[in-house]
Formats: sequence, C-alpha cells, structure tokens
Amino acid sequence: MGSETPRFAFTIDARDGKARTGRIAMRRGEIRTPAFMPVGTAATVKAMKPESVRETGADIILGNTYHLMLRPGAERVARLGGLHRFMNWDRPILTDSGGYQVMSLSDLRKLTEDGVEFRSHVDGAKHMLSPERSIEIQRLLGADIVMAFDECPRPDRAHAEIAASMELSMRWARRSRDAFDTGGEHAQSAALFGIQQGALDEALRLQSAEALTEIGFDGYAIGGLAVGEGQEAMFATLDFAPGQLPEKAPRYLMGVGKPDDLVGAVERGVDMFDCVLPTRSGRTGQAFTWTGPLNLRNARHAEDPGPLDERCSCPTCASYSRAYLHHLDKAGEMLGAMLVTEHNLWFYHRLMQAIREAIGEGAFADFANRFRQDYFTGNDLRSGSCGATLLPTWDCGAQTHDFVSFCRARQRAGAHSRGHRRRRASRRSAGREVRRARDHPQHQPLARRQAGSDCRPAARRGRKRAGHRARAGRSGGADL
Ligand SMILES: [Zn+2]
Repeated sequence: MGSETPRFAFTIDARDGKARTGRIAMRRGEIRTPAFMPVGTAATVKAMKPESVRETGADIILGNTYHLMLRPGAERVARLGGLHRFMNWDRPILTDSGGYQVMSLSDLRKLTEDGVEFRSHVDGAKHMLSPERSIEIQRLLGADIVMAFDECPRPDRAHAEIAASMELSMRWARRSRDAFDTGGEHAQSAALFGIQQGALDEALRLQSAEALTEIGFDGYAIGGLAVGEGQEAMFATLDFAPGQLPEKAPRYLMGVGKPDDLVGAVERGVDMFDCVLPTRSGRTGQAFTWTGPLNLRNARHAEDPGPLDERCSCPTCASYSRAYLHHLDKAGEMLGAMLVTEHNLWFYHRLMQAIREAIGEGAFADFANRFRQDYFTGNDLRSGSCGATLLPTWDCGAQTHDFVSFCRARQRAGAHSRGHRRRRASRRSAGREVRRARDHPQHQPLARRQAGSDCRPAARRGRKRAGHRARAGRSGGADL
C-alpha cells in the first residue's frame, strides 16, 4: 500500500437494516467488512500455508497473544523481525489481549487490580499479564490491530460480579489506551480496539459502551459472548449491544461463530468475526456447505464420488471427492485435514462475500432467509420433511452434524421410518433446556467435544472442571 494509506480508516459503503458493508484501510492492506478472521493461534493457521489462507479470501488473520508470549515468546518474535515476517503473512494481523485465555487456560491465576498472575499451561512457569504488558507483547509481535486487556466473566455469574468485572475491564481499557499511545512508532501505524463487557445485561453493556466511547478507540469489540450462553441469548444481547457502540467504528464480535451465527450477527450490526470453527472442524472431518454441515466420518460418504459441496469452487471441491476425503480422514492422513480446512475457510469467505454483496444490493434480508432455508434443510433433504429444521435452537455442533448425517442417510435409504418420525417427535417435545443439558459438549466424550462446533468449547463452560481441562485438550478461543 502507498504512503497515502491512513493508519486506520473505516468506510461504510452500504447499509441494509442494521447490517453494514464497507472497508477498513490499513497500511498492510484493506479489510472488507463484514470480515471473517481465521485464527492463527501459534503463528500458523493450522494445516494451511499463509499464501493458501490468502487465496481463500482472508484479508486479516488473528494471533493469540497468550500462546505466542509463552511459545516462542514475544521478545524472540520481535528479534526475528515481528510476527508478519516470522510466519510469512504480510497482510493485517489482529492479536487478542491474552486476557481471555489466561482466565480459561492457565493454572493458579491470581487476579488483582494490577493484572493477572498465572502459571503457563505449557511448562508451569510463572507469568504476569497486565494491560501494560499485554499491549507491550502485542507491540513486540507487531500487531496491526491491538486489543485492550480485559476480563471476560462467565455469563452465569451473579450480577454484582459481572458489574465489578466490567468496571475493572473499563479501568484496564483506560490503561491499555495509555500504554498503546506511548508505543512510539507502532502507535503511529497500528490500531487499538476496546472491548465491551457486561454479559447479557443491557444496562451494564450500555455503561461499558459509554466508558469505552469516552476513552476512544479505533474499533469496538463485543466481548463476553459465545461463552456457552447459546445462540438465542447471544442474539438477544446483539439486539442491543452493537447499537450502543459508536456507529462510525467497526464492531467486532469475538469468538463467533457458526455460519448461521455470522449471518444473524451481521443482521444485528456486527462487522468483524473470528472463530476456530472452520479450521478446527477441518481437522475432525467436519465440512461446512451451503446445505449445512456434514460429517465426513459418516460411512455414507465412503463411495460418494461427488465433491463436498456442489456449489463450491474451492480447490478441494474442484479435484477431490467425498469418498477420498472420507478415506483420508479414516486413515489419519494429514492431507485430509489440509483439504477440508481449505474448503471450510473457502466456504466461510464465500459466505462473507455473499453477505457483503447482498448488503450492497439492499437484499440482505432475502439473502439471510434463503441462506437459513438452504443451510438448515439441506438440498439432500428434498422432501423437506426432516426434523433438521430444529437445528437453529441447538447449541452443540457435534450433535448437529450427527443429526444432519442421520437425516440424510435416512433420506437416501428411501424414507423416514416410523422410528425416525418417533425420534423427531420426541425431539420436538423434549424442550429446549432439556436438549441443551443433554447435548451440551461437557456431557459428551472428549473426542466428541473436540469435534464440536462451538468456538470456545469446554474452556469457559465451568471452571470447576479446570482440572479435567488441564489434562484433556483445553482450547479457550485458540485453535489448538
Ligand atoms: Zn469446497
């Protein structure tokens, strides 16, 4: 980009209802919004070369401060020329503040006004993260978009606790702003985002938004969602939260989400997203398609010569069959993870592109309805009689995938049997809360949980299980 490119400039090109489409101009390149950011936790978007990530349509990727500070270390990355050079990605990078992962991943946390003291989950070494240290690490990495250091409480905590946590995060936001502004050259070329907290409470969210606006940031993130509250509660919060934030700045919903989450959040005024879902799913045989997610491990794919998605123009779909991908997954071949990850990122970015175009044409409501129609019923389910339309209320992707596979298998077998009809009826009558409790990833075996679709699976869903997580694949919004 030329020297005329501003440090950070957000232009809204079109609006349709609450949805907006536009561009963020930064020195390392333009970010088209609504934007999806693939997660590159350990300085790599797993199973993908950076040039292939770019080819999927990514304008920006996310790096995890917590993981990079522990390994290989921010100072080392800085000595090697910064994260962009280190990982060979020359476009914008957003780094999170590390706060979320300290809370969800590390052991022996001690939270004070100053910051958080914790032990690394890698080697047990003691570390301290404060607003000042978090900003310093993000500067050493050379992040283009820096996130303020915050605390993300679980939404089921008492109101007073959530209020106190939000107020602490707002004091930390002020300190993050001051630390960023004294960052010399980096402050002249990077941007700083504040993070709204307040869980599901409208008044606390407003108080948080006002505190952040008073401090002033380049963009505003909506934090504290996608932490196990379920889509319905998340959307209910997004009905008011984005509108509380400055209209002229980008709004970033952290850690979201499933394709239908993205469409629903854009409808409510969100401009940016990040999620491990397309990449993590790519390693567990889960593929996203315009007609819903599919589980490649299902035996029905074993002799299917068709592509993952008839409508997809990605390199995987151009050359590889479901049968081959099924085989690679069964055989544990790494090429399987690479090909499905590539398809999933391609799908996510085609979805974002379609969203941007629909908003530009003033046809986003139609697009969203058509998307949901196709995604939740699936073109394999031509009779339209399948209970898969129940899916929007489900919170657990692993169940979703299995149920879609189940329905499609039955469909292909020729009919919905009486047993299936009974099962469908009982699912309908089961009551949402009961289903959620039963299907919740914490109640699933680990392998199943890891295959699940929530961006932040076990990590924030109950700290009392921290011991289990310590031994069994914790995640915390990072793509591990
Ligand atoms: Zn594809």
